[in-house]
Order: sequence, then structure tokens, then C-alpha cells
Amino acid sequence: MASSRPPWIWPTAAYVHIPFCAFRCGYCDFAIAVGKDDRQDEYLRALEAELTRLGSPQRIQTLSLGGGTPTHLSADWLDRLLILLSRWLIVEPGGEFSIEANPANLDDEKIRVLADHGVTRVSLGSQSFDRNVLRVLDRDHAPEDVPRAVERVRRRIATISLDLIFGAPGQTLEQWRADLRQARSLEPQHLSTYGLTYETGTPLWKRAERGEVNPLSEDDELSMYETAIDMLGEAGFEHYEISNFAKPGYRSRHNSVYWANHAHFGLGMGAAKYAEGVRSLNVRSLEGYLTRALSGQPTEFQSETLPPHERALETIGQNLRRAEGVVHSEFQEQTGFDLQTLVGPAIARHVGWGTLEADDDAGVRLTRRGRCVADSVIQDFWKPPAERAT
Ligand code: SF4
Repeated sequence: MASSRPPWIWPTAAYVHIPFCAFRCGYCDFAIAVGKDDRQDEYLRALEAELTRLGSPQRIQTLSLGGGTPTHLSADWLDRLLILLSRWLIVEPGGEFSIEANPANLDDEKIRVLADHGVTRVSLGSQSFDRNVLRVLDRDHAPEDVPRAVERVRRRIATISLDLIFGAPGQTLEQWRADLRQARSLEPQHLSTYGLTYETGTPLWKRAERGEVNPLSEDDELSMYETAIDMLGEAGFEHYEISNFAKPGYRSRHNSVYWANHAHFGLGMGAAKYAEGVRSLNVRSLEGYLTRALSGQPTEFQSETLPPHERALETIGQNLRRAEGVVHSEFQEQTGFDLQTLVGPAIARHVGWGTLEADDDAGVRLTRRGRCVADSVIQDFWKPPAERAT
């Protein structure tokens, strides 16, 4: 039975984290496990233990497998993983079942397993079609792996999304345009474009600290972002979230749950969960996760219940990422607050600056100018947990 509770209280979506990777890309600060493939069976047992804590099988509308690289391990392991998940997380008919994949290791056998288990959407970490950019990002695939993977996936799975990164050291606007042209030519239904970030402690950050690589200027990054908006718009993609573009009908339903600030399950090492107003985070180390899950302890290492006022501000922060922004009626129903009463002066300020547009019926959304400085606009309303003072 589907839950009768509203989707911001009880999850209609689940994320499962598969941490294994062949090696760590220079810019990556995700919760991953490199050189630990011998722990894959233990990881399945730990996931099973965590799933068992759900109490009963859960009916959901979207299931997303990310990492790490879920397709790094063998077809047989993937098969066992998907059998396990199908016992606990039941995707409703017409639901979305997506998986992140590396173009270098997605062979026909793995695609067959994914398709046979009902995967509907594959998100390929293509990042760039330029050999030099891939090298500076430490990616382990070659440009030609991407069209090959797209062709293979398309024979069995209908929806393909490509991830692209812009702003790599040394990358030119012309190289970025070429990346966008190549991506468009493969005719994916969805594209995500992320500006490269230098996360503290990553190998890329250390190289930048030592002066071995030079981050692009903010102006250059902005030109790249605006180029993506223009080129993908011309190709019929809807710019439906700050970093995401979709052909009509192909928005990521799973990620839309996050941007709606709705509840979601999160399972596996480092996964985030939000249910009944409580946000919690699983331990980020493989050893810690395995030890806790396999000994029957909770896998979360922190959790917080936001008071209603903060939850409403958080909802504004998430909603502003979407093209439709914060919709008055939805917002009131979900949070119990009137948007104007809560943040009217801040909205008026940003409307004056041209970073937000507002109308009385629909709501408030970022303008094109606002999208270019989205982080600072959003932080005027709400600071993400990682950026709050502790
Ligand atoms: S493949 Fe993805 S998760 Fe793995 S190291 Fe590279 S960026 Fe990180």
C-alpha cells in the first residue's frame, strides 16, 4: 500500500549509494571506496541489514542508484544487488528507476541486467569529450567511450542523461562549445552541466594550492554557463533546474523530489535521508558503515529535526533551484507559512536587483541573471547545512 501521508513527510523516493570506484578522480570528494572491491559481498549484506530496518517493503515512485560507480562491479554483483533492492524498494508502475554509470565499464551484460530489473534511466558520467579535459579531471574513460555506451544503453533502456563538467583548468570556451555540440549530437533526453569545484583536500585542490593548475576566472565560468543555457535551449532542452536541462517530459523525477524538499530514503555509506521532518546522514567511511550495519546498529551518525520556520526557509532554498521556483499555494500547503509574510522584504530586494521575478499568483523564481549568481541568491534565504556556522 502506498502511504497516505504527504510526500514531504513520508518518502516516495529512495537513493542507494554504491561507493566502489576503480580510482579516485582528482576533483572527487564523494563518499567512495577505492581498492576495496573485495568488500563487495559484505557491502551487500550491510545494505540488506539496513533495508531490514525499514520494517516492511516500501512502495516508491523513484529509485536512484549512485555512488561511487554502481556499474564498477560485475554484472553478477549488480544482479544480486537489484534482486535485494526489489524485495524492499518497490518502484510503482510508471515510476523512475535510474542509475549512474561510467562509460568505460558499462558493457552489454551489465546493461542486460539493469534492463531486466526495470532500470528506466541511465545517467552517464561523460564529463567531457576532450581528451585533455578528461586528463586534467583524472577521468579513466576516453571520449570515444561515451557514444559507444550511449548506443549500447539505447538498445535496452529508453532514457539517457549525460553529465558534463565545465571550468576545468585550461579549458577554453571553444572546447566547451565543442563538448556541448558533441553531447547534443548523441541526442540524450537529459543533460546535467556542473561547474568544476575545488573541494578542500581533493588532489585537484592540492594541485591548485601548489600553483600546478590554475582555476578559470569567474567571468570565464559564467560565459561557459551562459553558453550552455543558450546552446541547449536552441536544441529544445528546457532549463528546468540551475544545472539541469531536459527534453519535454524527461526531467529527473528523482532529483525533483530533492528540489521540492520532499522526503526520501537514503541507504548505503554516506547516504542522506529525510523522513517525518528528520534529516539524517549515514557514516561516510566503508569500515564504519559495514561495522554498524552488520552489527545491527543504526548507520546514521547525525540527525536533526528542523523547526518549522527553518524547514520553510530550507524549502525556499531548494525550490528556487527549479524553473518554477517557489509556488505560493504549494509552499503554503507544505510548510504552513505564507511566502510573502515570511520573506517578503528579501524577495522585494532581489526583484529590485533583477535576480528574482515574482508574480502574485504563481510565485517567485530566479531570473536568468539570478541563475548566474544562484548560490548567493539562495544563501540570502537559506544556508545549506554544510555552510551553516557550527
Ligand atoms: S567516478 Fe565519480 S565517484 Fe568515482 S572517483 Fe570519479 S567522480 Fe568520484
